[in-house]
Amino acid sequence: MRGRVDRDTPQVATPHKLHLQHSGSACDVCPVCGGQSVLTGGIAGWGDWRSCEDCTLMFASPIWNGTNQAELFNNAYLGAESVAGMRDFAERLDERDGVLKDPTLWFWTPAYGRAIRWLGEVAGRDGTVLDLGCGPGYVLRALKNLGFTPVGLDVAERAVVVNRRDGFKVWHGTVDDYPDDWPRPDAVVSFFVLHHFDQPLETIRRVRRKWPDARLAIATYGPTNYDPVRTTPPRTLTRWNEKSLRALLTRAGYFAEVVNFPSTGTEDWHLRPVGGIRRRIQLSAAGVRMSKRMENRILPLLVRPLRKPDFVVLGLATSNPRMSMP
Ligand SMILES: [Zn+2]
Repeated sequence: MRGRVDRDTPQVATPHKLHLQHSGSACDVCPVCGGQSVLTGGIAGWGDWRSCEDCTLMFASPIWNGTNQAELFNNAYLGAESVAGMRDFAERLDERDGVLKDPTLWFWTPAYGRAIRWLGEVAGRDGTVLDLGCGPGYVLRALKNLGFTPVGLDVAERAVVVNRRDGFKVWHGTVDDYPDDWPRPDAVVSFFVLHHFDQPLETIRRVRRKWPDARLAIATYGPTNYDPVRTTPPRTLTRWNEKSLRALLTRAGYFAEVVNFPSTGTEDWHLRPVGGIRRRIQLSAAGVRMSKRMENRILPLLVRPLRKPDFVVLGLATSNPRMSMP
């Protein structure tokens, strides 16, 4: 992900520039495997969705319009950005105090638990784990509770501030500018951040170049995890599945096991108004917990028919020592 951009750099591409980028063949080449792609649909005000004929990654074309991502995500956390449904970044921070008190509400998919258990097996419980794109900080807390030494990283200043206030060591910036004298991670985790990267392969290669021995657990939305508002740029630049995530990790120089997780049913976008109502009536912290417990525990029993396979894709990756640093 690009972080702070030079102030002299134009922040938003002009329509003319977008047209030039879009008409150029570079926009049609898969950003993971370099394969040819086919047009799969339009994106209002942006361009097209394309699907790679080789690794099956879906990607926006153009993949990025030059907007400063650090500002975009920080504004989202501040409640000042509503494009692609990004107001929910601020809503998650508003709920944070209530949710933090009940660890059973921190994670919406078992992929988190699976990744963290794997880290314990391969890196040991006393290892340092870097959470790439740590957001509200639930992963940092879960890691700390289990005995790991967590370190965070986020391009959004607001996310950095709330976690530092809670005593966590969090770098404000990107993998590129993470200081050499900061803790060196034994493992890197990244949950639901990959779809924001405008250079997914290059970003993961940078992780391996910087920490070649670190294990990597990376979770992202699967092919059935589609939302008509959120699954659009500038929030969502790429759409993943088991094959494309494996292609990414392999090309970045890792051996990877890729695991799919079904949904519980409550994430179905038809049910999103449940969360919206909870936020609108501004429940107390205890009320938020009660409401979320119902959503997480009782609702899944009622909505079992809405469960979808391949809702989350998780890659568990170990550096391939025979592959040179690209
Ligand atoms: Zn591809």
